[in-house]
Amino acid sequence: MKMSKMLIPTLREVPAEAEINSHKLMLRAGLMRRIASGVYAYLPLGFRTFKKVEKIIREEMDREDAQELVMSALIPAESYKETGRWDIFGPEMFRLKDRGDRDFCLGPTHEEIFTQTVKNGVKSYKNLPMTLYQIQTKYRDERRPRFGVMRCREFVMKDAYSFDMDEAGLEESYQAMYRAYSKIFDRCQLDYTVVEADSGAMGGSGSQEFMVKSDIGEAQIAYCDNCGYAANDEKAECLEPISSDDVKLLPIKEVKTLNVKTIEQLCEFFSCSAKTFAKTLIYKADDIVVAAIIRGDRELNETKLQNHLNCNELIMANDEDIFNATNAKVGFAGPIGLSIKVIVDLEVKGMVNFITGANKTDYHLINVNINRDTKNLEFVDIRTIGVGDQCPKCQNDISIARGIEVGHIFKLGDKYTKALDCTYLDQNGKSQTMLMGCYGIGVGRTMASIIEQNNDEYGIVWPMSVAPYQVIIIPINISNEVQATLANQLYTSLQENGVEVLFDDRKERPGVKFNDAELIGIPIRITVGKKAGEGIVEYKVRRTGDMDEIAVEKVITRVKDDISTL
Ligand code: ATP
Ligand code: MG
Repeated sequence: MKMSKMLIPTLREVPAEAEINSHKLMLRAGLMRRIASGVYAYLPLGFRTFKKVEKIIREEMDREDAQELVMSALIPAESYKETGRWDIFGPEMFRLKDRGDRDFCLGPTHEEIFTQTVKNGVKSYKNLPMTLYQIQTKYRDERRPRFGVMRCREFVMKDAYSFDMDEAGLEESYQAMYRAYSKIFDRCQLDYTVVEADSGAMGGSGSQEFMVKSDIGEAQIAYCDNCGYAANDEKAECLEPISSDDVKLLPIKEVKTLNVKTIEQLCEFFSCSAKTFAKTLIYKADDIVVAAIIRGDRELNETKLQNHLNCNELIMANDEDIFNATNAKVGFAGPIGLSIKVIVDLEVKGMVNFITGANKTDYHLINVNINRDTKNLEFVDIRTIGVGDQCPKCQNDISIARGIEVGHIFKLGDKYTKALDCTYLDQNGKSQTMLMGCYGIGVGRTMASIIEQNNDEYGIVWPMSVAPYQVIIIPINISNEVQATLANQLYTSLQENGVEVLFDDRKERPGVKFNDAELIGIPIRITVGKKAGEGIVEYKVRRTGDMDEIAVEKVITRVKDDISTL
């Protein structure tokens, strides 16, 4: 492709709207442009890489016998209503009505539609197992679209759904997707970690996320260098600490704490650290008010709490509910004397002589000992793992890192097939519910993650497998006939050899062309300059910066070598 004819609106300045490297570089290199908040257009150069990522995904899915099809993005509400997700999705779902006042949505994910399609099309065990997939646009009205195509409101996802007869079959289909995903992200040259993820209280028996470690990642992962354990922070288990029993239990005492409510205020008031407190958080779980207690410096893990309570919705209680439950204003709740369900974090079990709210406005209790002072409480792991915790498998120190979730594989079990009555006839002619798995990869997020891990001060450093072009040819002076002729010859012969080549035939200064070539990250740069008359060109590898002069006859072989190894 001749660059003079292409839409590549590169930018010198860092666009104000972008916070992270990949977003800045995608805008600066002219790969995409923002249309609205969380809505983007891919421009020609960006779209080439996008298609390459898609191709890699497609090839690896096909290799595992998954079949591609495409569903509509515009979906009638009925099936989402049957599974309850019409309500569960809440404001994240883009909803609309047709002229006949019927409810539709723009699909945020397609479990229902695939389940229905399989229900209508597959009747017998003879047609199972089956894995179907699509690479299609999804719509989610995200609360906080950000980081460009990393978290947007319109994005392309590869979503796959497997249908099996039994658990063993589901396990096999799941492992096939695990293999495909590993190959996909390997081919994209991403450095990733596979982590255990939460699969929810209702249905679902296993789930893993493919995470690209990155400081800008929105997910937190806990991993152990010793035994290889890795889980996201919703899932990572916290161990019950070994308590020392040589501390004397002191008598419980009520202390007046006028207007002292927050942990910071309490620390100041009592001159002690947050670790000395147990904080009581009041939640509403499907309309039932419950209390959750964790150490003052810890973070409550709502996923763990929700799983334990087995509820559809978990929200913080409002002031009125808190008053009704604790008989006190917000800030003075505690475990003692509550008549609602109380769930206590495992760690609190081992705390001695700690401080809590007294369930009385402006009062706290000191020297509380949960085993001595309360009865019938449930002790459960409900906190989020953090630095200083131990690995739940081998007890070594756990490490915490941030990650970008690029892919997700999930054993759904019969969650959707049961709700939508997706059955098959087994060998004995008996009707059985199919078991299902679902598997997603964000195409744009994968592309942005590749940039996040492959860039330098000059721009993007594309891995060969997804580079928009493999080679860029830059004539130093296109008005010089010798240079122009040689550059054109090279361009033609590279193309004839199946190489994807960009020809910078623009009448720009060499500095501008070099900067653009670095910025857009083409893996091989061939410069045709002063030595064109002698048949010598300059050959530069973007990733290493290695540069040498080579005879023009050697270019094809060298390029082919580099394409297969870079
Ligand atoms: P997140 O926790 O980041 O919101 P999710 O759990 O909602 O992700 P899934 O529903 O499992 O994501 O979707 C599968 C894949 O789709 C994700 O692994 C990610 O690559 C991609 N994806 C999800 N939401 C977005 C988004 N808003 N923008 C771009 N890609 C997305
Ligand atoms: Mg999400």
